[in-house]
Parts: sequence; structure tokens; C-alpha cells
Amino acid sequence: MDELRYQVDLLNAMNSRLQADERMYRLVCSTSLSAILYIDCKKGSVRTLANWESFFPGVEITTPNDISKLYSYIEEPSVLSFRDLLHTNKPDETISGTYRMADENRYIEVEIQSLFDQMGSLSDKIIRFKDVTKEHAQNDELTYMAYYDSNTGLINRNYFVSKLSNLIKRAEEDNSVISVMFLDLDGFHKINDGMGIVVGDEIIQVFGQMIKRYENDNVIVSHFNNDTYCIAIYNPGAALNANSIFYELREAVRNPIKLTNGSEALISFCAGVADYPESAQGPLELINCAEIVMFKAKEKGRGQIQYFDAPILKDFLSNVTIENKLKDAVFNENFTMNFQPQFFVESNRLRGVEALIRWKDKNGEMISPSVFIPIAEKNGAIIPIGNFVIKESIRNYVQWKKKYDTDMILSINISAVQFRTENFAQSVLDVISSYDVNPEDIELEITESFLIEDFSDVIVKLEILREYGVRISLDDFGTGFSSLSYLKGLPIDTLKIDKEFVDSICIDENSRIILDTIIYMTKKLGFETIAEGVENKEQYDYLKSVNCDCIQGFYLAVPTDSEGIERLLADRSL
Ligand code: C2E
Ligand code: CA
Ligand code: CA
Repeated sequence: MDELRYQVDLLNAMNSRLQADERMYRLVCSTSLSAILYIDCKKGSVRTLANWESFFPGVEITTPNDISKLYSYIEEPSVLSFRDLLHTNKPDETISGTYRMADENRYIEVEIQSLFDQMGSLSDKIIRFKDVTKEHAQNDELTYMAYYDSNTGLINRNYFVSKLSNLIKRAEEDNSVISVMFLDLDGFHKINDGMGIVVGDEIIQVFGQMIKRYENDNVIVSHFNNDTYCIAIYNPGAALNANSIFYELREAVRNPIKLTNGSEALISFCAGVADYPESAQGPLELINCAEIVMFKAKEKGRGQIQYFDAPILKDFLSNVTIENKLKDAVFNENFTMNFQPQFFVESNRLRGVEALIRWKDKNGEMISPSVFIPIAEKNGAIIPIGNFVIKESIRNYVQWKKKYDTDMILSINISAVQFRTENFAQSVLDVISSYDVNPEDIELEITESFLIEDFSDVIVKLEILREYGVRISLDDFGTGFSSLSYLKGLPIDTLKIDKEFVDSICIDENSRIILDTIIYMTKKLGFETIAEGVENKEQYDYLKSVNCDCIQGFYLAVPTDSEGIERLLADRSL
């Protein structure tokens, strides 16, 4: 009896456990977001479970043959692979695939697990359908971001490179030409700084739309970054080529861009063009060549175009070589100073010397400051170079002063980039005081280019320096916009008349008249005049006749090292 009771209790216990399992199983199924197909392979029966209706509403599947009813739910090109997947049975492995549903912008992931019995034959199979539309959209977005620029909607640099290499393959087979045009907006940082980045972005977008018009099977249009764009034209013809696109666009930007904030912006751009196969054969090289000549176009001014040619590349490569060598030279302070004497015309007395930097590279080749200073200005090396020049020339000056008790002036060339650094005035004054030099013996040579940007900021700095007694000289007068009227308010002491002007006085009557006037006016304004690059007696005599104060030039003395200056001072003190 007890035994029977025990069996009944056991059955009850098992029953309630089964009921609990059944509840749990129903709960799992009813809350699952996936649809599930369970196939009992031994019995040949199929059950649909969980969220079935939301995937395949009204589709009844009870036998393995019914499964074919699902095919029509998948978008056409993938139906076959979907069918194959559903019929795949692999032990110990979940296999899956993602499909787009027909007539619906919905993606499903299908996962299959097959169970085998001890004899190795298929016993059960579970097919799970999961909605992955969201993940897919994110994937789409990532793909978009990898290939497109979100601001302009144009393809990005990477995608452009890949499309261009395909185009090159095509051109190779067809013996065709491809033009690559690199475009860069002029003075864009000023727009960005002045009008804000929101406006900057809008301008980039509007210009992007302007060039997008040219996009077709033979023209690839892309946005690289910021304000740079690149266009590739396959087989350019008479009607559509880099030149025609450039001039059409240039015409289009003559009208100001109307911005959403109600204001207007006037833009211009420069372009560089390199052709396949003439300029380069690979996509990256072509883009590089086009970019290099674009910089050349910029040197000509706003709204310019420049075609690739070999000398430009040679020039560029030589600049790159110099730039690399320059880094070493700056690190090792491989520079020396030369000094060119200046003389008073009237008394023939030594007025002072102009400090001129010299650089001999490792191979012993002299590289002219007119070549490396502009490069150093571009890459920032001018700051340590400029500091070296100030210290080294003042150090030499102090030695001469001690030995020869001279009252001459030391002129130091200052680059605009160096002058713009925040603590420039203070750092010069610090060196002057550390060497215990009279600031009135030091003269800084600046050029008109200083005055073009941040005029008032420059004037403030000049005034600070002058308050301490440092002299300021305006170099290269006659080469820039050289208007006499703007000289009036400038805090300067000396005006240096450029060699170009001096050269023209013996050739051209008008130049003589102009020079005459300049010297007369300059003196009236209270500035001292120095004529530079004086190479012969004729020039010297003329300058003397018009009362130019001082002369500097090969005719009287070439630049020399510190010992050369010492010899000169020793001679003069005799
Ligand atoms: P710059 O300031 O106009 O310097 C005068 C240049 O004319 C010097 O060339 C000098 O050697 C040269 N020169 C002087 N007299 C004559 C002459 O009678 N005939 C001819 N043909 N040339 C003459 P350099 O030393 O090659 O310097 C070239 C330019 O490089 C300088 O022009 C200046 O702009 C820049 N530079 C030179 N040294 C420095 C420096 O220490 N710092 C900075 N920032 N720039 C420098
Ligand atoms: Ca100078
Ligand atoms: Ca000069």
C-alpha cells in the first residue's frame, strides 16, 4: 500500500514539475520576439512557435513540405540561398544567414540548429527567425560613413581613390585619358573664423552641390575634407574637360552664395589638374600631382588654375628635400651668420651691418635664405631659426663692441611669422637685456607683408619695441604696394629702398623721378633712407645726388663673416 502511495506521490510531483516546465516554456515562447519552427524529423511533423504571426501571418506549417511556403517571403535574388539554408543540417553548429523580406523594408536573420541521435541520424531541427532591421540600418549607416561625406553627400577620399583606380584600369584598356582636378576654396579659414563653422559647413555643402552637377558615368565628384574637393574626368572631350568645368564653376561663384541665415558669402577657389597617363599612373600619385599644382595656382592668386608640368614637380620635390634637411639643420643649429656693412653716403662712415643667415647643408652646398626661409615660414621652423639669428648676431655684435667700441647699428631681418608669435616683442627685449646691449643699437627689419594682416596688432608690437628704443626698418620698399601715404603713420625709423628700384634708376627716367620723390618724402616724414643692392658707381653717384642717407650693396661691401667685420672695424679704427 505504501509502495502504491509512494508511486502516486511521485507521479504528482512529476506532473507538477512538468506543468511548471510547460508554463515556463509557454512564457518563453510568448515573450520571444523571434519566430520559431520546430521540426520533429523522426515523426515528420512541424510546429510553429513564439512570435510566428508577426513574421509570417496566417502561414500554417505542419509538415516539412509546408516550409516551401516561406520562400515567397524573401526578396527575389536571395530566395535560392534562403532555401538552401533551410535545408542545411550540420551537427554541433549553428548556421545562419540574413535576408531582406520581399515587399517590406525588413531584414531577418535565420538561425538553424540540427540535433542528431546516437546513431547519427537527424532527430530534431530548430529554425529561428529574428528581426535585425535595426542592426542592418546601423550597418548601412556605417557603410555610408565609410564611403560618403555626410555634409556634402559626395563620396569621400577613400571611395574616390577606389573609383579612380577602377577608372584607370578602364582607361588602360581603352587607351584613354583621365583628368584629375583638385579644388580648394580660397581663404576658407577666414570664412570659418569670421562667419563661424556653421556658415563654413553650409558653404562647403553649397559648393559640393555645384560640383555634383557634373557627376555622371564618366565624371567622379568627391569631397576630400574641409574645403578640398576632387573631380576625375574620364576621357575629357571638347565639351567637358577640367578647363571647361573650372571656368563654368568660376563663373557660377561670381554670384554671392545666399546663406540660410540671410547673409551672403562670396567665394572663390583654385584648381590643380594632373592627367593620366601623362602626369602619373597611379590614383594616389595623380591626386598628389593635382594637389601640388593646386598650391602653385594659389601662389598666382585667387580663382586660378594650374596644369601639372614636370618643372613644378621638380621644384616641389626639391622643396621637400630642403624641408627634410632643414629639420636636421634646425636641430643641430647648422647655421652661421654673415653681416653686410652699410655706409653713410655723406661721410662714408660705417652706419651698421645687416645680419644675414647662411646655411651650408651636409654636402657642403650653400642653400640661399631666399629659398629656405619661405619653406621655414611654412613649416614653423622659422621660429627656432629666427631665435638663433637674434641671439647669434647680438652675441657677435657684443664682441665687436667690446673690442672696437663701435657705435654701429645691428640690423636683424624678422619674418612675419616670427613677429606674429605672442611674446615676440618681450623675447627680443629679453635677449637684448641679457647681452646688456643698448636697444637703440638694434634695428629690426620688417617688410610690408607684416602690415597686410592684423595691422593694429602689428603697430602695437612695433610701438612697444620702439618705446624701449629698438629701431624699426621697413625692408624691400618698392616691391609691394609701396604707397607713400601709408608710410605717414607708421612707427618706423628707416626705409630700405629695394634693389629692384635701385636697378631701374640707371635704365629708366620715370624710376629716377619716383625714387627722387620717395627719398624727398621719406626724409620729410623723418625717416632715414638706405638704398640696397647698390652694385656700381653710377647707381652710387645718383643716390648720392638725391641725398639718400645710406648705401648697402656689393659696390661697397659684400656680406662677410664675423672676422670680416672685425677686420673692417680694425681698419676703420686705425
Ligand atoms: P634682404 O633682407 O633683402 O637681404 C638683402 C639680400 O641682398 C641679401 O641676400 C644680400 O646678400 C643681397 N645683396 C646685398 N647687396 C647686394 C648687391 O649689391 N647685389 C645683389 N645681387 N645682392 C645683394 P641673402 O643673404 O641671400 O638674403 C636673401 C633674403 O633672405 C633676404 O633679403 C631676407 O629676406 C632673407 N634673409 C636673409 N637672412 C635672413 C634672416 O636672418 N632672417 C630672415 N627672416 N630672413 C633672412
Ligand atoms: Ca633685409
Ligand atoms: Ca631687402
